[in-house]
Amino acid sequence: MTVTLPGLFDLQVNGFGGIDFNSADLTGERVVEALHRMRATGVTRCLPTLITSSFDRFAANARVLARVSDPALAGIHMEGPYVSPADGARGAHPAAHVAAASVDDFRRRQDAAEGRIVLVTLAPEVPGALTLVEHLAAAKVRVAIGHTAATPQQLADAIAAGATLATHLGNGCPQMLPRHPNVIWELLAADAVLASVIADGHHLPASTVKSMVRAKGPFRTILVSDAIAAAGGAPGSYTIGGVACELGADGRVSLPGTPYLAGSSLTLDRAIANTCRFTGLPLAGVIPMASTLPASYLGLTTLGTVTASWDEEACELTVRHVAA
Ligand SMILES: [Zn+2]
Repeated sequence: MTVTLPGLFDLQVNGFGGIDFNSADLTGERVVEALHRMRATGVTRCLPTLITSSFDRFAANARVLARVSDPALAGIHMEGPYVSPADGARGAHPAAHVAAASVDDFRRRQDAAEGRIVLVTLAPEVPGALTLVEHLAAAKVRVAIGHTAATPQQLADAIAAGATLATHLGNGCPQMLPRHPNVIWELLAADAVLASVIADGHHLPASTVKSMVRAKGPFRTILVSDAIAAAGGAPGSYTIGGVACELGADGRVSLPGTPYLAGSSLTLDRAIANTCRFTGLPLAGVIPMASTLPASYLGLTTLGTVTASWDEEACELTVRHVAA
């Protein structure tokens, strides 16, 4: 059947269609091309995401993104460098550039980004993090908790200071956790915190997505792609910033020779279909998680409308047309 959806909104996308927002050769034209290719998957607004890198790389790429005036670019998501240095929690973020948090360092980055950073993912246990969370909350920059091995108390302190989102919950945390308490249960239970999830079946198994959506509720769960340049591309070698990664035939993106995932090749239209299949929720119950909820989380609206075919039996959503 034909369905009409609001334009999709992706809070976390590192690149698309062969274009890496973290690479040294990023230009405004390439950003616009990536945004254009993303539209074919129904995404009409997004936050290009810059992961941990040197200050100079961050500043250069943030400046390129900031000067793109396309309304599809709703701001910048700064993921790192204030993340856990521990293997597992750090994920694909390069250890050499992981840093303590400071208001001064953030101000320099926000200046380079010409004020376009609207979401920061950080780990509460990093030195200086709590002071920065308070500063960001006062400045109306949204704060997400992620790439963290924080204790329950550190998580509670960050939430009290103004953190409002858990970035890709269930990923960017230690490979081995105590059964309870742990960072996943604490963030699931925190009603003041929304959770983003990567519903590709690789980052989280179906049963985990189902359990998380049930625990958080559809009105506190946001679907993100966390896509890298490999999204919309063929299996093979790609990069995210200076980090090499590999897209397998199964759609999994990993750091070669390690068990660690390095972003995804997921597209948001497939995330919606997967979430319907994993949770049993109807399409109408899942659409807001990838459109109106992420938009309203940032105090924004969605853009345009998407016409798609929905095969309920097969849980397949195929974008046909994107208007305005
Ligand atoms: Zn991440």
